[in-house]
Amino acid sequence: MSLKRYSVINNKNKREIVLLRGNGCKWKKCRFCDYYLDFSPDTTQNYELNKTVLKNVTGIYKTLEVINSGSFTDLDKNTISLIKDICVNKDIQRLHFECHWIHRDKINDLREYFGNYNINVKIKSGIETFDYNFREKYLIKGIPDISPSEMAKYFDEVCLLFGLKGQSRETMENDIQIGLKYFERICVNIMTENGTPVKPDKSVIKIFIENLYKKYSEYENIDILIENTDFGIG
Ligand code: SF4
Repeated sequence: MSLKRYSVINNKNKREIVLLRGNGCKWKKCRFCDYYLDFSPDTTQNYELNKTVLKNVTGIYKTLEVINSGSFTDLDKNTISLIKDICVNKDIQRLHFECHWIHRDKINDLREYFGNYNINVKIKSGIETFDYNFREKYLIKGIPDISPSEMAKYFDEVCLLFGLKGQSRETMENDIQIGLKYFERICVNIMTENGTPVKPDKSVIKIFIENLYKKYSEYENIDILIENTDFGIG
């Protein structure tokens, strides 16, 4: 699999972003996802790959986002240590990671580890929607029926997934509003065709583009990815 693994985001929340490789998502059940295929059980090979990707980081914006098609818990210890060294050497003060709900109990340790080096960790989680039935009975996301404020005890940022059959202007806007109320940032991903049975719904995407994209695209705390490679990686 040939993927672009380093990019710089020059508009909102300016940052460098790297797509690293871990030993694989431990949930793997989300109905819409096939990117968990970017993994290897070989931690040495993962580290070697991650090292070459992390070499690109310059610290230009003092902020780095690390994603790895899963959760930060899938990354090997040497990679985590290298990320720390790079942050210290390049004066990176804010570090974003992603995390599935099932690993929420590991977040405090991560915050503490990087906090020792004055690096502020932000955790992003793919919530996809705050509608429990849609999220769990259709998307199989693996998050219990809990309130957004309960989620916000662990996560600083959430991803939302739009462009699916069954969504409407009202449901999408409701998700955005809840996201803005409880979290520091939200990232809206528009569903794109992949190898899973979940297909993008063109009419729902049109509703989003015509009504909500214009309204929310200028918000500093909302990223919108029309294509899942819009951050320049993947
Ligand atoms: S938790 Fe993330 S990587 Fe794992 S299956 Fe779901 S969307 Fe894919």
